[in-house]
Amino acid sequence: MGLFSLFKRHPTFDHGIYPVEHKELTASQPIRRLPFAPELVIPLAQHRGAPALPLVKVGQEVVRGEPIAQADGFVSVPMHAPATGMIRAITLAPSANGPKTLAIHLKVYEAASQEVLYDLERDLDAMSPDEIVAAVQDAGLVGLGGGAFPSHVKMKPPSGRVIETLIVNGCECEPYLTCDHRVMLEQTDALIRGIKLALKATGAKRAIIGVEDNKLDAVTHLRARLPKALPITAEAVETKYPQGAEKMLIKSLLNKEVPAGGIPADIGIAVYNVGTLAQMGTLLPKGRGLIERVVTISGPAIERPGNFMVPIGTPLRYLLGRVGLADTVGEIILGGPMMGMAVASLDVPVTKGVSGVVALERADPDLALRKVYPCIKCGECLKACPVSLNPSMLGELAQARQYERMADEFNLNQCFECGCCAYVCPSNIPLTQYFRIAKSINRDKQT
Ligand code: SF4
Ligand code: SF4
Repeated sequence: MGLFSLFKRHPTFDHGIYPVEHKELTASQPIRRLPFAPELVIPLAQHRGAPALPLVKVGQEVVRGEPIAQADGFVSVPMHAPATGMIRAITLAPSANGPKTLAIHLKVYEAASQEVLYDLERDLDAMSPDEIVAAVQDAGLVGLGGGAFPSHVKMKPPSGRVIETLIVNGCECEPYLTCDHRVMLEQTDALIRGIKLALKATGAKRAIIGVEDNKLDAVTHLRARLPKALPITAEAVETKYPQGAEKMLIKSLLNKEVPAGGIPADIGIAVYNVGTLAQMGTLLPKGRGLIERVVTISGPAIERPGNFMVPIGTPLRYLLGRVGLADTVGEIILGGPMMGMAVASLDVPVTKGVSGVVALERADPDLALRKVYPCIKCGECLKACPVSLNPSMLGELAQARQYERMADEFNLNQCFECGCCAYVCPSNIPLTQYFRIAKSINRDKQT
């Protein structure tokens, strides 16, 4: 990369915000492992689509990597044992979303080597696109950027759609999170293998890795390692929130817009997170399932922040005990502080879609526990909204409980709850919360 490309203004989308990044806490921390928790809790519904169906019984012994639940249909994925041990229970457990959900409780054998012995070696070059799609589902892979949408489903776009371009999302625009950054630096070969597999499965002609320009070391690193014979490039985009949202990244890299209410496949694009493709490149050659993921644990209330390879099902209480939680902690968020979910219980486990655990302090200005004032019509929220909605008007309608009008006249359903409007609002109006509730009420009315 020449000097010019290091300093030039990189492509971007309209609107958005520039929150304080806080990435320096963990950006240079290599991915490390922690000891296994004594018990793992593996929810059967930790992805979009139908929950998985248990394959094991209470009292059964399982080895690390063995399938323990099967997919229930095409839009569903199986689960694999994240450790060698014994099934202690299949019962309800707390989830990040609030209500308890059915989960497999696995007592981990302390003395086991925890080697993955459950392999099914494959010749990737001999696999057809359909075989790759089936193998991706068998691996239990979902979007590791936070969406948790089954990865194989995106490889089969609705009929009439053809995937031309694969976008590999390495933006990681949420404050604090650096796990994707570390994956790009440390799991480069697996990532390239995963991109090759996704190119073949989707039939896309090229892949573009999009990386925010606060990670130019990753762009340089990737460009140096990408094989010249492959149609894969790495491009820097502006560091701006929410650059990592699919529609924003497509706009930045290709200057194309996904139609309102549509999906990227409508304009010939599939978007995959770098962590998802690195896992694809790691798991598929050996026919293994997803049993762990990289998680950034950070924030001012974490004593030893870092990036960790965490077995799926590890309870937050155990994880936070290992990295140290300060007495000043005010809120613990799964994911990043902009779109993540505050947890009510430390018994909630790390699931496939959890990219970060962020612990904020009680006095942290990022916390939403601030006095709310009336709207002063300053227009800041309109300038921030990346999909050009009118959050001020939507907020007023939400307070008046006119939820259907919000959807019918003011495009509420295009809101993807990025949090930009609430972040800039000088009146501290919890706009995103209002919109989440309004959408949920409208959904309930339709069922
Ligand atoms: S939360 Fe919704 S309304 Fe607010 S800025 Fe994001 S997309 Fe726009
Ligand atoms: S930013 Fe807040 S105060 Fe300003 S117009 Fe929007 S809702 Fe009203």
